[in-house]
Amino acid sequence: MVTSQKKRVFSITTYMVVAVFLVHMAVIPFLYNEITSQYKVSSYEQYLGHVTEVAGLLADVLSTKSLTEDQGDVLSILETSILGGNIQYIEILSDNDLVIRPRDESLQITEEFVEDKMVGTNGDDVYYFDVPVYFKGDGEAISRLRLGFDESAVINDYNIVKEKIIYALMVYLLAIILIIAAITRLIHKPLYQLRERSKDIANGNVDVPLGVSSGLREIQFLANDLELMRLSLVDIAAHMQHKAAHDDLTGLPNRYLFNDRLEQSIARSARDNSPFSVLLLDLDRFKEINDTLGHGVGDEVLKIVARRMQTGLRESDTVARIGGDEFSFILMGADQQDAEKIANKVVDLIKPKFEVNNHLLKIGSSIGISVYPDHGDDAGLLMSRADVAMYCAKQNNVSLAVYDPEMDRNHYESLMLANDLKNSIRSGHFSALYQPKINIATGTPCGCELLLRWQHPQLGTIYPDKFIPIAERENLIGELTSSVVRNNLASFQELVEIYPDFHVSINVSPVDLLDNSLFNSITSALEQARFPRGNLYIEVTENAIMKNPLRSAEILDMFKDEGIKISIDDFGTGYSSLSYLQKFPISELKIDKSFVKELNQWSVNFPIVSATITMAHDLGISVVAEGVEDEAVLQLLAEMGCDRVQGYHYTRPLEFEDLKQWLNARLI
Ligand code: C2E
Ligand code: CA
Ligand code: CA
Repeated sequence: MVTSQKKRVFSITTYMVVAVFLVHMAVIPFLYNEITSQYKVSSYEQYLGHVTEVAGLLADVLSTKSLTEDQGDVLSILETSILGGNIQYIEILSDNDLVIRPRDESLQITEEFVEDKMVGTNGDDVYYFDVPVYFKGDGEAISRLRLGFDESAVINDYNIVKEKIIYALMVYLLAIILIIAAITRLIHKPLYQLRERSKDIANGNVDVPLGVSSGLREIQFLANDLELMRLSLVDIAAHMQHKAAHDDLTGLPNRYLFNDRLEQSIARSARDNSPFSVLLLDLDRFKEINDTLGHGVGDEVLKIVARRMQTGLRESDTVARIGGDEFSFILMGADQQDAEKIANKVVDLIKPKFEVNNHLLKIGSSIGISVYPDHGDDAGLLMSRADVAMYCAKQNNVSLAVYDPEMDRNHYESLMLANDLKNSIRSGHFSALYQPKINIATGTPCGCELLLRWQHPQLGTIYPDKFIPIAERENLIGELTSSVVRNNLASFQELVEIYPDFHVSINVSPVDLLDNSLFNSITSALEQARFPRGNLYIEVTENAIMKNPLRSAEILDMFKDEGIKISIDDFGTGYSSLSYLQKFPISELKIDKSFVKELNQWSVNFPIVSATITMAHDLGISVVAEGVEDEAVLQLLAEMGCDRVQGYHYTRPLEFEDLKQWLNARLI
């Protein structure tokens, strides 16, 4: 294993101070020597000049005297010289080695004359030297004037100057170190701040401006670069944050951001004591668009829908895409009434047709509404209740529904049923009832309609109004319809064997009309059983056709080409007109029971039913009235020329065995 030795690091100040100190420690002694020796030389030279000048003057004065004749004068010159104070030692050494000294005891010299080469030598504070004297009358003889000058003052001066220089150099060294420390602090401080801010930024605190400036250009550049880096980090962070919180396709907030806003809305509304509403919107038939026209078109549809929805909202509202074709809204301050108004507006905004890749499309939506605080005071509850309301809207084929506690029960039930449905289809827990159709003209049965019941092992009989929407939603309706045909084909066969003109009608869901699978399974079942195709009717509601007219026309044409007849169920409940429906291969029209049940000559429905019968006949389509409950209605329909009837007046839907008996009593 490699162990890295930890390198000791010091601050720039330490390095600079130590470096400057060391350099100065090398330079200062040299500097000191230079300065002091310069001083010494000049002050000593000055001193020497002075003393040699004095000595010269004395020698000149003495040379006016004769050593033999004027000895008294000579002695007094010597004595006054010494009395002046500067001269501490004076004597004359004659050419014949005679020594003449001052006579006065107090002026007697005890020291010995030791000639000095330089000032300050021999440590005696006296500078000894001699000069020649030419006494009058001595001819060529040379005597020597020996002098000793007090040198202590000049040496003292020199020592004081040395001290001062040492002080000055110390002060200089201190000053330079302080200056260096101050300058490096100028570098060090912003560098330190930059370091602290970098650590801060690395910790994610990118929002606070750098706030570091320096008079040093290089450091200011560094600070500018770091600030630029921070700003781009802020940008990147904002971009990433936006990306993490928004849906790529529509740019709307995603589920995470929505949940966050929902929590915030709850907190704010609780504080302000004000309501707000949650809308959950699910597009109708979106899967179908995706499956048939491709994901590209699906994506475009979502974008258009997202744009349209946004136009209907206020600034304070949120719309988010929380799933494939699911959108969620938070409407701040909106109570139930406001929410319904806005939801209606959103539905209207989405409704108009739009063009994508040359397809003219129209998409519907279902909205569930929950209101804070009436329907819950936490996010989960508000969402699940909006969801329940949305399912309810879908089930009831309305564009919006507000949550109601009753819905929970239904929702729970339908969840349970959805769970059981698949198994029940496979285990054959469905039974068929048959309701006869009677030819009015002859009064005899001419066919029957198969009506399905779910025999739930625990819940007993469940009616189609409940389980058909679930089967459609759970994508099980195709399987269910196919199994109905397959499981009851033997009964159909039995009936047509007894009554060759007798026909059987089966109900087909709108979802069944979206692809070929039902067509394929029905035709192959009929093929195997050799059931005469002309004896089979499929009942399709007009709404089923209108939801996707092009595709429906294709599928219905395929049925027709196989000889299978088509009956329009629940006619009158939709918005289509007969003249539009004539484009489809229709054999029979069933007037919905809501028009028939209480029909009389004065009811508003009377002219509608009458006109429908006439028009259908004009188009070669026969008419069945369903929901005939009494003789009077039957009479009225007969007068209008209606072809066939079906209803409780004759019989309720019957078990197969009962049907056979019922028919047996009326046919043959
Ligand atoms: P629908 O096709 O309109 O069927 C007629 C409904 O009216 C039946 O209800 C029938 O029992 C009822 N009915 C018949 N005569 C009268 C009458 O005189 N008065 C009144 N008030 N009602 C009468 P049911 O069996 O509950 O079926 C309800 C709906 O369920 C059917 O309406 C049909 O749309 C659907 N359905 C039934 N079986 C199937 C099936 O196998 N597949 C599909 N996709 N839908 C089915
Ligand atoms: Ca029907
Ligand atoms: Ca019907």
